[in-house]
Amino acid sequence: RFSTAVAFEEPITPPVQIDYTQLLINGQFVDSTSGKKFPTLDPRTGDVIAHVAEGEAEDVNQAVSAARKAFDEGPWPKMTAYERSRIMLRFADLLEKHRDHIAALETWDNGKPYEQAANEEIPLLIRLFRYYAGWADKIHGLTVPADGPYHVQTLHEPIGVAGQIIPWNFPLLMYAWKVGPALACGNTVVLKTAEQTPLSALYVSKLFHEAGLPPGVLNVISGFGPTAGAALASHMDVDKLAFTGSTDTGKIVLGLAAKSNLKPVTLELGGKSPVIVCEDADVDTAVELAHLALFFNQGQCCCAGSRTFVHERVYDEFIEKAKALALKRVVGDPFKKGVEQGPQIDSEQFKKILKYIRSGIEGGATLESGGERFGSKGYYIQPTVFSNVQDNMLIAKDEIFGPVQSILKFKDLDEVIRRANMTRYGLAAGVFTQNIDTANTLTRALKAGTVWINCFDIFDAAIPFGGYKMSGQGREKGIYSLNNYLQVKAVVTPLKSPAW
Ligand code: NAD
Repeated sequence: RFSTAVAFEEPITPPVQIDYTQLLINGQFVDSTSGKKFPTLDPRTGDVIAHVAEGEAEDVNQAVSAARKAFDEGPWPKMTAYERSRIMLRFADLLEKHRDHIAALETWDNGKPYEQAANEEIPLLIRLFRYYAGWADKIHGLTVPADGPYHVQTLHEPIGVAGQIIPWNFPLLMYAWKVGPALACGNTVVLKTAEQTPLSALYVSKLFHEAGLPPGVLNVISGFGPTAGAALASHMDVDKLAFTGSTDTGKIVLGLAAKSNLKPVTLELGGKSPVIVCEDADVDTAVELAHLALFFNQGQCCCAGSRTFVHERVYDEFIEKAKALALKRVVGDPFKKGVEQGPQIDSEQFKKILKYIRSGIEGGATLESGGERFGSKGYYIQPTVFSNVQDNMLIAKDEIFGPVQSILKFKDLDEVIRRANMTRYGLAAGVFTQNIDTANTLTRALKAGTVWINCFDIFDAAIPFGGYKMSGQGREKGIYSLNNYLQVKAVVTPLKSPAW
């Protein structure tokens, strides 16, 4: 009654080999200074895929020196913007050519369905780099009408060396959100990947160099947060920091930035995003999109719709249909065609999610589907739906980051606005209604960086993304991301001509 009926099979052999496992510093693959390596694991089994060079503070120093040299001495910020744009476009072409290989690496290291990686994420990765390549030669300042005989202009200059720390849930999309705008603006980069998913960034960064990226412009460090990540966040010669991950770690890196050189920081953190299904919603659409809002990417999305508020008039119908959809969700080897849900990223997340599920059951929520691990190997979890969830339950308050849908009942708009905003997070929200006034009211009342109306998870390269409250600081993607990587210099010149 509670689980998806797909038999567990032996894992499919991934159709690729691992080519790159070293650190990428100054255009070269090198071992870590300490010689240390760490294993990256296959979430389908927990087996080792490869041993990867483990970067630490000394390696970060070397990467920052290379990025500093490439920034100060050129050629990157000194190249014409058009040349930078051409390299980024050539990189996008190579990503297209190697799409299948890249998607396979992403699936192997992360566990996400291959079809999702190949057909949704890699095309978006390519789109993001083309989008930012398009910006490279359109970044310019203003002339400013000041009082008095002065010619005033602003120069929009790159900040310098950008340190970027990314998570494991979308290794390559997070790479694009960070690296794309930073390089388009003429900065150089030291990127620290997540320890769970180091492989795909190394592979694509090699392609970037094949596309003509000069050495030192983009350096990639595999390694752990408290060592490599902290060294980057507190480095005195890093001019800007961008971080995506948990709110707790966001606080740490913000503190490290403040205590070192006060580098500006953008943060994209956790969420507990509400999905609000009004009484006049098209219920079938709402059920389907609320399901995807939560279960997409095994529930490992910062903007996951993890509190589904449903109006009491459509509540029973919604629960029945949401449960039926969860029971139909195809869980299995992510390399297998038709699979919608693969394993969670690692044993830590797997255990954490099962703990939350237990707390939901013990707290009195009604388990409609799932509730247990799926199969006996790896980190698979059954698509789980809880109804009768109350605001004060842990599953309604904490970011679970797994395939657990929590459905709550509401009566009227004022009540649901209050309850939806009753969280420390403010990343995203979804609204399902046929009434424009209801949509407008909710859009303005919800404290969230994105409000999707009658849709969810639309991630166009041009749409800005970021959080209110403890979901972050600043915006990524779109034109807004450029500001994160630019300094504005005011230039004032006296006008001698009497005709001013
Ligand atoms: P995390 O925030 O600890 O890790 C994200 C990145 O930060 C990784 O690259 C990690 O190595 C680095 N990091 C960790 N500690 C650091 C430190 N002291 N200094 C500098 N960098 C550091 O996240 P996690 O432990 O992988 O996952 C824990 C929870 O975070 C998840 O369950 C989920 O709730 C949340 N999460 C959110 C996102 C998101 O997209 N917002 C992504 C991943 C995880």
